[in-house]
Amino acid sequence: MTSLIFRPADSLIFFMSQLQAKSTAAGNRALNISTNSAAATAVDAVVVGAGFGGLYMLHRLRQLGLSVRGFERGADVGGTWYWNRYPGARCDVESMQYSFSFSEDLQQEWRWGERFASQPEILAYAKHVAERFDLRRDIQFGCSVSAARYDEATALWEIDTDQGERLQTRFCIMATGCLSATRMPDIAGLELFGGKTYHTGLWPHEGVDFAGLRVGVIGTGSSGIQCIPVIAQQAGHLSVFQRTANFSIPAGNGPMDDDYERSWKDNYSALRRKAREDTSSGTIYEKSTLKGHEANPDERQREYERRWQRGGGNFMHAFNDLLLDQRSNDTAADFVRARIRSIVRNPAVADMLSPTDHPIGTKRICIDTDYYETYNRDNVTLVDVRTAPIERITATGLQTRDAHYELDSMVFATGYDAMTGALLGIDITGRGGETLAHAWQAGPKTYLGLMTAGFPNLFTVTGPGSPSVLSSVIFSIEQHVEWIADCLESMRSRGFNTIEPEAAAQEQWVAHVNEVADRTLFPLANSWYMGANIPGKPRVFMPYVGGVVPYRQKCDEVAANGYEGFRLSQAGPGLQHTGNLTNQQET
Ligand code: NAP
Repeated sequence: MTSLIFRPADSLIFFMSQLQAKSTAAGNRALNISTNSAAATAVDAVVVGAGFGGLYMLHRLRQLGLSVRGFERGADVGGTWYWNRYPGARCDVESMQYSFSFSEDLQQEWRWGERFASQPEILAYAKHVAERFDLRRDIQFGCSVSAARYDEATALWEIDTDQGERLQTRFCIMATGCLSATRMPDIAGLELFGGKTYHTGLWPHEGVDFAGLRVGVIGTGSSGIQCIPVIAQQAGHLSVFQRTANFSIPAGNGPMDDDYERSWKDNYSALRRKAREDTSSGTIYEKSTLKGHEANPDERQREYERRWQRGGGNFMHAFNDLLLDQRSNDTAADFVRARIRSIVRNPAVADMLSPTDHPIGTKRICIDTDYYETYNRDNVTLVDVRTAPIERITATGLQTRDAHYELDSMVFATGYDAMTGALLGIDITGRGGETLAHAWQAGPKTYLGLMTAGFPNLFTVTGPGSPSVLSSVIFSIEQHVEWIADCLESMRSRGFNTIEPEAAAQEQWVAHVNEVADRTLFPLANSWYMGANIPGKPRVFMPYVGGVVPYRQKCDEVAANGYEGFRLSQAGPGLQHTGNLTNQQET
């Protein structure tokens, strides 16, 4: 078996002699790479990140017979589910749908314990995938890619890692995740705090015992809303520092029902097809054909009530125009605000928890377990840091304009530099010395969320400009990974070595992404979709809101038309065809 454990600074000559011998047996399926440099290891493809995107990409590239190296900064697979171990962390897409569909055996054998899987269960699933497809042997863990430079002379990418290693690759595939660059707010005095601080997205593996402590949680997005009820059960006292109230729908979580599981497993292929062909987000919800503001008020109330009781993201599909028409949206928002008032006993607290600054659903809808109920506990205080902002952190707690809060621990549920943060955290330089940071200075620009002009052979899995975070992300990962793998296979069969978007096609796609977003209510919210949570980040609506069906059709059409809008070339200058350098097939 050829096991390409990454060997720092391996001599290319040694590598070639070993692998050329293997390539014949493996059927000459690897792409040809040659290089003048003897200093760096060379592979056909580098995959950055070992979350679900990286794992599946690695698997598909191996199936193509390519040599692949994966890099992952964490000590194991799982990506966002590796890092987000905060109490209460749980998926907001139902387990039966938040899973890979590419392997029938995999989807039949895996058993989910709950309707909405918890973080430990999803992480266990990611580990199972890694083991089942023997993926770990090609991933270097605890190692970040720090830089990627495109060398026009060889048409290869030169990759640097934070471990001081360098390698060359034809294809560089960024599976770095949309929500992986955590964000700490710039609050004065943080370094003075004598207690412990945590970020939900970088939670300690050994867990945290809050028993009897005075805990502060800053932030009430999905992460805050999930961890607050659990921390409240442990803490002596919990202070929640809320700047903006968010809409949250109860999950209605519970143990997996055997019949429900069976109904999915018996019909997986038809249901997965339905998700691909007849949904907006890749998740099957109960769709409505009615407009919210046209419905009879009593029926509307009953419909919202029914969906609230059932729980989960289905609520936002009660009517088909909730994200398009402010009048309809208002009816759903009013319903949720009324529910908050009915759950939370203190009217002033209920008022503070009731969002008024954005249409419901234009920030990611939160899915919770006992969130609003938590504010009826005696040991929980809600602090409005919109009217009395946080001024500084002190040695013993947190100072707002109005009061000082004594704290033993502080939890930052303050979110991410979403969609672009992880990519721009890598020093990426494309053609002509252009950096990705410069190319994206006015906001991310991609063709189909898959590639950026000026950066040949650099792919982004669920990149900005694709449905990504507006879809069930494993669903979108599968579509991207399969599209990229098919693209590489097509290039190989037609003798092309590089692919890159044409600037005009990219401009048209960026304009389309914006135009579609402007037809919705989404741009009305100061959301991380818009980059609004990061001071100085360009305000651009980043994901593609047009829906997964038209998006997939567009991607498929582009491929069927010979990768329309992309420029393909046979070889970069200086690229020689001296035979297969590497081969990953088992022999
Ligand atoms: P988020 O939605 O960006 O929320 C961050 C929170 O921190 C906001 O309430 C924000 O207030 C607050 N904040 C930031 N800086 C602050 C400051 N200086 N002072 C006071 N408050 C401050 O981040 P998140 O909750 O981590 O969620 C991010 C995304 O991850 C979600 O939208 C979702 O897509 C995903 N996620 C999913 C799940 C799930 O599947 N169930 C769970 C967790 C996260 P403002 O709104 O006022 O800025």
